[in-house]
Amino acid sequence: MKRSYIAEVLKKKRGRVLLKGWVHDTRKLGKICFLLLRDLTGIIQVTAHIDKQDKNVFNLIKKVNRESILELKGKTVKNGKAPGGVEIFPDKIKLLSKAQSSLPVDVSDFSKTELPKRLDYRFLDFHRRKVQAIFKVQSVISMSFREYFYSKGFLEMQPPSIISSASEGGTDLFPVKYFEKSAFLAQSPQLYKQMLACSMEKVFLLTPVWRAEKHNTPRHLNESRQMDIETAFSGQKEVMKQLEKAVQFIVKKVLEKCKQELEILKLKLKVPKAKYLSYDETVKILRMRYGEDLSPEDEKKLGKKFPDTIVFIHSWPAKLKPFYIMPKDENEKSKLSEGFDAIYQGIEISSGGQRIHIPELLEKRIKAKGLNVKNFKSYVDSFRFGAPKHSGWSVGLERFTQALLGLENIREACFFPRDRDRLVP
Ligand code: ATP
Ligand code: MG
Repeated sequence: MKRSYIAEVLKKKRGRVLLKGWVHDTRKLGKICFLLLRDLTGIIQVTAHIDKQDKNVFNLIKKVNRESILELKGKTVKNGKAPGGVEIFPDKIKLLSKAQSSLPVDVSDFSKTELPKRLDYRFLDFHRRKVQAIFKVQSVISMSFREYFYSKGFLEMQPPSIISSASEGGTDLFPVKYFEKSAFLAQSPQLYKQMLACSMEKVFLLTPVWRAEKHNTPRHLNESRQMDIETAFSGQKEVMKQLEKAVQFIVKKVLEKCKQELEILKLKLKVPKAKYLSYDETVKILRMRYGEDLSPEDEKKLGKKFPDTIVFIHSWPAKLKPFYIMPKDENEKSKLSEGFDAIYQGIEISSGGQRIHIPELLEKRIKAKGLNVKNFKSYVDSFRFGAPKHSGWSVGLERFTQALLGLENIREACFFPRDRDRLVP
């Protein structure tokens, strides 16, 4: 007999079935025992009556511990009182794996176990429906990101994870011993995706990055994944529009494919609108000091003011953007740049902009940032042999999941978070 998934059985409401799954909960009422069986697709009630079923079946259901794994065969019966309107009366049952009786963390739907403890037992935390729902949504996010850019004729690229020097000029890198040389874990695929855009025009990627920043915040990880694009012959405006369209496509797909998950997470999502503000306008709206980055509180304020909206803040002062972001005017008079940030649900989800493709200007900007031009020689040289204007952006996968699902802590959106204190599991 072929295994059925619970969602199918709930839909069909009839026939004999073979099910495999985890013991979600049990309840004993004298002569009758109820068990909730859970698989990837849902939860179904399994009922055993001492007078009506095999003794072994009844005894196993009566004794089995939560989160043990069962295989059972039985009859599907309609029952308006059971969750989903259906229950199973099993006649054969097998204990495939026994869970110890006291679980180290509560994995019920009502669990109040704190996040750090849950992360210590992440393997068991993955038994929780809420946690499963987060990662099902996340997998639809990454899949639809890929789908969107494949459909637009982009090439998926794979950047290196080990690099020889800082790609952004920062110092927060993890060193790696690389034979006789010293190397680092890549903090960004920036330079590599630019080289690809300058040859293959339209590329996207989903890649891990590592930042050795010592801070421990609810919105930063030391290892995270990025969804990036880089395109030739386009400027800040075009790539912001592409981000707007891509995010709308992703949210539409989540709404389409994750109905059950959004219900479990008690979320009502809307496909977002977009709002475009210059840095100057943002400073006025938020009454912040000119020349400063937005604080987390500023981002929250913007989220409140523009709910269900991707707020693009463009034309930032060059001082606040990396050296490779294009100045707004050739002679840098305005001191503004072609760089932007995108804020969604009160948190930054992306940064991007037009890059400098003119070697002399790039060298000038590297120096202006107090960096050593020598360290960027191969990067600058890559623009000496035919490099078009190009732009791109980067969205953190875990950060975006956090924003979309309104999660307090980004660690909720990372399978195995790496932070200042956590390397295990
Ligand atoms: P923030 O200002 O939020 O610290 P950032 O401006 O330093 O982020 P960028 O270099 O712009 O980060 O990175 C691009 C995107 O990657 C961010 O918009 C965010 O979605 C994500 N991101 C950046 N840093 C982290 C991190 N430490 N952990 C998880 N995601 C991150
Ligand atoms: Mg940023």
